[in-house]
This record gives sequence, C-alpha cells and structure tokens, in this order.
Amino acid sequence: MQMKVHNGRLNDTVPRGLFINGTWRATQDTLDVLDPATGSVLAQVANGSVDDAMEALDAAVAAQHAWRSVSPRARANLFHQAHALLVQRADLFAETMTLESGKPLAESRGEFKLSAEFFLWYAEQIAHLHGTYADGSHGGYRIVASHQPVGPCLLITPWNFPLLMIARKAGAALAAGCTVVTKSASETPLTSALFVKVLEDAGFPAGVINLVHTTDASGVSAALMADRRLRKVSFTGSTGVGSTLLAQASKHIINASMELGGDGPFIVLDDADIDAAVEHAIVCKFRNAGQACVAANRIIVHEAVEAEFTRKFVERTESLRVGNGFEAVDVGPIISERQRQRVQRLVAQLAESGGQVLTGGAPIEGDGYFYQPTVIRFTQINAALCDEELFAPVAAIFPARSAAEALAFANDTRYGLAAYLFTQDISRAIALGERLDFGMVGINRGIMADPAAPFGGIKASGLGREGGHDGIYEFLEPKYMALTVKREEEVLA
Ligand code: NAD
Repeated sequence: MQMKVHNGRLNDTVPRGLFINGTWRATQDTLDVLDPATGSVLAQVANGSVDDAMEALDAAVAAQHAWRSVSPRARANLFHQAHALLVQRADLFAETMTLESGKPLAESRGEFKLSAEFFLWYAEQIAHLHGTYADGSHGGYRIVASHQPVGPCLLITPWNFPLLMIARKAGAALAAGCTVVTKSASETPLTSALFVKVLEDAGFPAGVINLVHTTDASGVSAALMADRRLRKVSFTGSTGVGSTLLAQASKHIINASMELGGDGPFIVLDDADIDAAVEHAIVCKFRNAGQACVAANRIIVHEAVEAEFTRKFVERTESLRVGNGFEAVDVGPIISERQRQRVQRLVAQLAESGGQVLTGGAPIEGDGYFYQPTVIRFTQINAALCDEELFAPVAAIFPARSAAEALAFANDTRYGLAAYLFTQDISRAIALGERLDFGMVGINRGIMADPAAPFGGIKASGLGREGGHDGIYEFLEPKYMALTVKREEEVLA
C-alpha cells in the first residue's frame, strides 16, 4: 500500500495556548517545539509560569466538588462522547505525534489506538465502582465502605509516549471524579493540547481539566506540590525526578503514583523459539528508537543459543530502515541533539566496559537527530552495567551459562518495571516468571501494554499501577462510614 507522505507541517487547528478554567490562553513568553527529524521549529506554544499553574490549580479546586457529584452515567456519557471525537481525529493525532516526537507514523497510529482503548476502558469502569456493606464486628452498627475521589491531581507526563501517557493518567483521574492540572512534556506539548481539546469539545466542564506547558518544570511543580489543596501527584518519567516529587509529596502527605525508569532484562533460554525471540527483541528494543521505559535493556541469552540469536538479531537490526517517520521507516530520530550526544557517550562507555560493537555505533550525518541502530555484544555478564537505563536504539547482549545465572543477573538491578522471558517450557516459564523481581513479565512476547492489565513497576521503577482494575483506584480512596443502628427489637416493636 502506498502511504501518503505528510507535508511535515503542523495543522493550524492544534491549540498553542495553556488551557485554564475552560479557556485557551496565550502567554507573553513562548517555548519552541522542534521536529526531531529535521531539527526545525514546528511551533511555538505558550510557556506557563508558576502563577499560571496556580491559577490552573485554583480552577481544579473550584471544579472538584461539582465534578465528583456528576452522576456516574453522565460522567461516562462525557467519556463516550470524547472517545468518539478522539477516533474522528485519529489522523491528526498520529501526524502530530510523529511531527513532535519523531516516531514512525505506524507507531503513532499504534499508540493512538492503545490510548483510545485505555480511555474507553476507564469510561467503562465509571459505572462499576462498588463499595461494601458489612456488620460491625460486635454488632450495633454497619460498615459502609465506598470509594471517593482523592481530590485535585497534578499529572506530569514524559515525551516518549505523548498521547498514551496523558490519556492513561487523565482517563483514570477524571473517571474517578478527580479534577486535574496536567503538565505536558516541553518536547511534546501539542499532542497534550489536542487531547485536552477533545475533552473541551466533548463538554467536560470548565476547570475539570487544565493544561500547562512550561520550561520551568521544577519551579511549577514545586509550587503546586507545596499547596495543600493538591491531593495527588501522578508522574511518569525518570526515577530521579520521581524521587524529588516524592520528597515534595511528603510535606502534605500527597498521594503519589510513580511510573519511573526501567532496566528490562530480555532472557532467551536454550529451548526458546529463536526466530520468535529475535523478532520480539527487535520490536522491544527498537520501537520508539529504544526510548521506552519497558524496552529490552539487557538481552541475556543462554550460551548454547547465543551465537545463533546474535547473528540473526544483528541481521535484523541491519535491515531496519531509519529516517523521517512520515516515510516508510522502522526507526525514527532520537528526541533531541542533547539526547543523541548522551547516546554517543553511552556507546563509548559500553565499549570501554568490554562490549564489542557488532553493528551501528555512530550518529547519522545530516538533518535531524538520527542514530544508527546498534548492537553491542559482551562475552560475559557484567554487573557494572546493571542499573544503566540505555533509553536508546542500542542493544546490549550478554551470554548466561544457565537459567539460574540469567535470573540472578536479571534481578541484579535497582529497577523492577518489565522483564521478558523466552522459553517453550511452561515449568521454566513459571519458575523464572515468579522469581523475576519486576512488576510485569512478558512470556514469549515483547509487548505487554493493555488497558485491562495493571501496568507498573516495583523497586526504583515506581509505585502504583495504570490500567486494569487497579488503575482507577490510584485516584480513589476508601471512605468508611460507621452507621449506628438500633437493635431490631427496638425498631420493630
Ligand atoms: P524526565 O523525568 O526528565 O521528565 C518527565 C517529565 O517530568 C517531563 O514532563 C518533565 O518536564 C518533568 N520534569 C522534569 N524535571 C522535573 C522536576 N524537577 N519536577 C517536576 N517535573 C519535572 O523524563 P524523560 O526524559 O522525559 O522521560 C524518560 C524517562 O521516563 C525514562 O527514565 C523512562 O524510563 C521513564 N518512563 C517511564 C514510564 C513508565 O511507565 N514507567 C513510561 C515512559 C517513560
């Protein structure tokens, strides 16, 4: 099928302002949004200040009571209306995502589809939030337990999945009856703006969702976190920033959900279907140019099949087409020149640590921030490389002498987000799957995100889950009412 090539220009209908209390507003100062495939400026958007963010919080606080009081059916209807609008604007979303994040159009479409499904999942949960009713332990009263929205939330998202992150967070928060201030990633504010515009057009009331773009992420979030009217922070990004936010949350004991960094081991045992493992490893490693928290970070292959796996993996890596996401490519650019320089330093560091570069290993000359898909092979496991989130189109392959050694190396990290395991033996899958210290384990698959699944990590990878039955409860708190009742004899007399 011939893909129509986009002209590379941003659609004029994408809002450029902040969205506060139901109104789009410009600011004097602006921030440049770059196209990482060309390095040129795509758009200038409003650059919010601490004062703007505080106004957004005022609006969220003012709207909170009315929003939580909207009946579940009415709230769900708004969600369904928004979902219909999202789907109508699918092309605009996908093209905008490719423009500002660089990811290939097919990946943007995939992210769009998943984001819309997450949104729908939350819509379907709204009318199914139940409480419990029970006898008090010693009689005389009833235990009436329900869930109530935690209150106004701050949502902070990264650039690498510009729609999925905001749809997944805002979907859960709004479905739970919370109002939100969402802070976009400064690299990808346009997709956030499109999402918020959908909610506005669907009829979400003023103040329920507010959007702030800013180059002063630390100043803006520190001010919001210091205000005790804020009751929840939900953050996706690096572990360092997550840790700072948790420290800030401690002042007013703000409820916190954290989706942080990863160091995903991708284990291939000697009985694995090697061709399948190679295909899944290629997607798991090079999707989004390797800039994914759940990317395969350390590929750990049983020594009996390591040579075959590595040969096939290198062949497939060399077949990947790199280029502008609007063309027929598999891998787009790195998000920025600064990040591309980090990748270059990282490759040098891996080579110094004993890695042999089998393919790639250099930036691609010309416009944009492209980097060659790279494979680095180690001759033994290397504990010094645990904890190193590559976040790049760079694969590191390590041999393991046994399943036990692979497991020990896999777990030797401060992170605990996603792990992957390839074996055709169900007992080995269960034994290793249960012992892997990660929030998610993909068995014979390299992609796991699903609206019906609890996505999230343990250890330094985070707190809480997004999606599944658990996701919405991140934004709800149990409320217990003890209801005194007279004895039956007294009321029935
Ligand atoms: P980042 O932590 O630098 O930025 C994430 C967001 O935090 C951005 O909106 C940024 O503006 C904001 N931010 C930066 N400093 C801040 C501060 N001091 N206070 C408040 N906000 C601040 O991360 P990044 O480079 O954009 O994203 C990459 C990281 O995100 C990787 O570590 C990746 O693993 C992680 N990530 C995790 C998940 C997950 O679900 N676990 C998903 C995607 C990305």
